[in-house]
This record gives sequence, structure tokens and C-alpha cells, in this order.
Amino acid sequence: MPVWSHSRLQTYEDCPLKYKSQYIDCLKPREENVEAFLGIRVHETLAKLFRDLMMARMPSVDDLLAQFRRSWQENWNDAIRITKAEYDSGDYLRVGERCISNFYRRNHPFDDATTLAIEQRLDFALDDEGRYRVQGYVDRIARRPDGAYEIHDYKTSQHLPSQEEIDSDRQLALYEIGLRQRWRDVNEVRLIWHYVALDETMASQRAPEELDSLQEAVIALIDEIDAALEFPPRESSLCEWCGYQEHCPRRQHLVQIKQLPVDEQNLEDGVRLVDAYAELAGRRDEVKDELESLKQKIIAYAAGRGFDVLFGSAHRLTLTRRSKLTLPGQGEPARDALEHILRERGVWDEVSQLSGSRLLRALESGELDEPLRRAVLERAPTHETVLLRLSRLKEPGN
Ligand code: SF4
Repeated sequence: MPVWSHSRLQTYEDCPLKYKSQYIDCLKPREENVEAFLGIRVHETLAKLFRDLMMARMPSVDDLLAQFRRSWQENWNDAIRITKAEYDSGDYLRVGERCISNFYRRNHPFDDATTLAIEQRLDFALDDEGRYRVQGYVDRIARRPDGAYEIHDYKTSQHLPSQEEIDSDRQLALYEIGLRQRWRDVNEVRLIWHYVALDETMASQRAPEELDSLQEAVIALIDEIDAALEFPPRESSLCEWCGYQEHCPRRQHLVQIKQLPVDEQNLEDGVRLVDAYAELAGRRDEVKDELESLKQKIIAYAAGRGFDVLFGSAHRLTLTRRSKLTLPGQGEPARDALEHILRERGVWDEVSQLSGSRLLRALESGELDEPLRRAVLERAPTHETVLLRLSRLKEPGN
């Protein structure tokens, strides 16, 4: 039985395919990205700060910065990917230094609470039987003189969430559940996020009923993940930072192109096909509006003179007029009323049509019993159609 974590649940919510790659297929992520590297270095430096404080030693901010730079240099390697091409490792190093200085300046002399644990592993159950186990590592747990416990989390992100997002954050609320199981005297708990790159601190507290509903929601999500048979890719801005792009049908081609020498990338077969397609599609889009306006002029010209066929110098143009009903949409009352009248008058069977998309939906949702399903597929076998949708890349190579 797996032990769940906030990041495991979050990965499934962000992208089921990434979840499968990471947690079911246990594939190794391709490379570390600089944001994760920066986060690790800042976390280890702040952990060292509080370890020193627990040993009654007060390091200076310069000591911490020196340690941060040392660790950065010792651990940096060329495989670390810098996603934002306009920046380099020096820029990220400076962001890290700012994180350390901000935190130090804002919290010095660090005596408003007693640190109880640093990078503490919490392993706890969400149910009485222990079937839903969750684990997490808390950056720091502290206790205030008034007895309130604090769960601290360091964030190096440059995005400051809203208070609403903080109040519904799952990660620290889960840690609170774990904390309450770990120690008996826990009464008040404060959840605190240090957005160290932005020099901002945010806090939240949870009512017992909020923790109960969180517990229920997480159990429901775990059940959903356990029952999942398919893990489709879900593209988002997070793909740029995904370490499983080479296993993902949405990004594999891009990964392969980027592995080619720059001057060969535009010669790759797939790139050439897409470029040719884009060029033709662009021309089609260019003339579409022009064609439509010309069509309207032709219709008006022919209608005004009662012509059905017009002649050009080398072509003839035949105008065929057909009436078309504008049916009310699915679910609209007028559609139900229309169907009702047609059924009542006994003409429904003559005028209603088989709808391929509705039949396919019924097949896929399992609402048809097996004999009916087989009978349908025998007479209407499925076939695959591929729609192409062209969209512009935001930046070259993106
Ligand atoms: S690249 Fe994007 S869509 Fe593909 S697995 Fe990763 S997160 Fe999912």
C-alpha cells in the first residue's frame, strides 16, 4: 500500500501522465531544473541556521551566505536545466542570496519561538484503520511562549499567492493533521509560509471541521487515483519544468528536436512537415475572409438577377440553394417540445437520425449492455480520425 504525500497528490492533479511516470513506472526524471536546485540550497542553508541556533550558536548572515555559495558551487553541474534562457546560474545564485538575507534580516534574532524540529518527517494516517497513510517533511516546527505550535515552510517561488489560496493550501494543513497525531498537547496551530525571495510571510489557521473535510477530500482523491485506469497527459505551463517530457507524447518531439545541433533542428522531418502545413494553413486563413465576402457578393448578384449559374472567363459557378433547419440545441426546452410533437404525431422514427457522437459516448461510458455493445460495433465499427489544430509557438523552440 503506497504512502501518500502532498506532492504525490499534487502531481496527479497537475498531470496524470506525469504521476504515472513518476510513481507507477518509477522512471528517473531527465534532469534537475535550476528552480528545484535553488530551493534545495536555500532550504539546507536555513536548516543549518536553525541547527546552529539549537546548539546556542548564532551564525552571522555572512556565515550563512558563505555556506550557501559553497554548497551551490559544490553541487552545481551542467546537467541542471535553466528553463528561462535569458538568465544564467549567476542570476539564480543571486536570488538565493537574497532569499537568505531577507529571511535573516526579517527574523533575527530568531527568538520568538522555540524550534522543536527541523526537516521533520511526519508519517500519519487519515483513517482509523491506517489504510490511508500520508507522509511529509516539515521545514521547521516551533512552539511559541503562548503554547501555540507553528509549522513553517520556506518558499523560493517568485509568485505570492492570495490569502484565499493560502487558506485552502493542502500541504501545511495535512502537516497539521500529522502534528496533532504526533504530540498530545497540541492546541493552537499556526501555519506559516516564508516567501523568502519576496521577503513576505503569510499565515493561516484551520478550524477542526476544515481539517475533517480536508481528510475526507484527500481520502476521496486517493480512492480516485487508486481506481484510475488511464493516465492522460495534461498540458500546462508546468510542462516546461517536467522531468518526464521524453516519455510524454505531448513533448517527446520537442525533446528530440532540442537534442539535435541547432542548425539541423529546422531540417528534421517533423519540423519540416509542420512548417509546410503551417504555411499552407496560413494562406488558407488569409483568403478565408476574402472568399466569404466574395461569396456573399456573388449570391447577391445572382439573386438580384435570378441567375443560378454564373460564367467567368474560364470557369462556371453553379449556385445550389438548399433550405436548412436551425434546430434548437440539445437540452433546450424548444428541442424537447419539438421531439415531443414529432413522437406524438408518429413521425419521430422517420425524421430522427442516428447520432454517431452520441452513440460513441454511450459505448465509451459503458451504458450499453454487452450484447447491445457488440451488435452496435458489428454494424458501426469505430475508426480513428485525426484532427490537426495549428497554433503558434510562444517563442522559437518553445
Ligand atoms: S510534459 Fe506536461 S503533459 Fe507531459 S507528462 Fe509532463 S506535465 Fe504531463
